[in-house]
Amino acid sequence: MTPSHLSRRAVLLGTGASLGVSLLPAGPASASPGPGLAASGLAVPAPTIASCGTWGARNPADPLTQIGTSPNKILIHHTATPNSTDYTQAHAYSLARSIQNFHMDSRGWSDTGQHFTVSRGGYVMEGRHHSLSHLSTGSGMVVGAHCTGQNDQAIGIENEGTYTGIEPNTQLWNRLVDLCAYICGQYDLPASRIYGHRDFLATTCPGDAFYALLPRLRTEVAARLAAWSVIVDNSSPGFRASANWQVSNFSQQRYGADYRYATPVGASDAAYFSATLPAAASYKVEAWFPADSGYNAATPFVLFTSGGSKTVTVSQQSGGGQWRSLGTYAFGAGTRDVAAVSRWTSGTQYVIADAIRITKV
Ligand SMILES: [Zn+2]
Repeated sequence: MTPSHLSRRAVLLGTGASLGVSLLPAGPASASPGPGLAASGLAVPAPTIASCGTWGARNPADPLTQIGTSPNKILIHHTATPNSTDYTQAHAYSLARSIQNFHMDSRGWSDTGQHFTVSRGGYVMEGRHHSLSHLSTGSGMVVGAHCTGQNDQAIGIENEGTYTGIEPNTQLWNRLVDLCAYICGQYDLPASRIYGHRDFLATTCPGDAFYALLPRLRTEVAARLAAWSVIVDNSSPGFRASANWQVSNFSQQRYGADYRYATPVGASDAAYFSATLPAAASYKVEAWFPADSGYNAATPFVLFTSGGSKTVTVSQQSGGGQWRSLGTYAFGAGTRDVAAVSRWTSGTQYVIADAIRITKV
């Protein structure tokens, strides 16, 4: 598991601290902790996926082949079974078992061929054993049996039904978008890596009507991936500052349990916010800090953009307890310092470092 996958699975818990305004003097006076919000987040939540054990799979006929190489694409299939109007979970699980029986008993395969199955009732199920464990860690894959030449390259998704002449229903479609977005997020795949079975083999699968919808599927998945956002609080692993930055929970406008403050100094001793960015792209950067008349009127926020460092000066005497835009900038991909609060200011009062929100735009 990589740090990027860890951060992507964290949960975005929203906009933080209460908005109560303190009229007490500024500084590290004690106060009861505000609502403690964990802070870090992400955009592609894991959909509910029923494991092989949950839907009652048989054991595979052999240990199966698992590889350390992650998949480089997703292949969309249809099951070519009836377009059932039984939208229950029981039907979905029964479908998964019947596919496994067919693949093992009639085709002579070791297990279900595809990695995942989506029913017309909108249930997402693991197909081949070990598919889910690899997906949840975002690392490696179990070699499938869904498309010759692509079984160690592509995640195969079977969609219940026959889509030569009709389109999949809304329940199936929505869960397929969820599943594809999650797979792309976990394996760092762009939505453009979603294909139809027929793109790699002479077959009608996934049906003309479904195949015609693949551009829309890519567009909807791309929109999910673009919604990437992360919050780095002063308690997050992505925050670092020297011991000169002390901890306070004085202001009720804080984000999370506390924040850091320091006196101005003409030296480089910034408080840094780093994050793992999913792609080289433009990101909106916002700062959350408690404001107080005792805080600095010209706090420098430094943005470490791909075009060099840029400084935005913000008064921390008002407008606190909310997300304040620092602008939209280009950043490279990977783990990097995104922003910092500098102590190097002409102001004389405390500079505050509390939380940063980074949103891909
Ligand atoms: Zn197929």
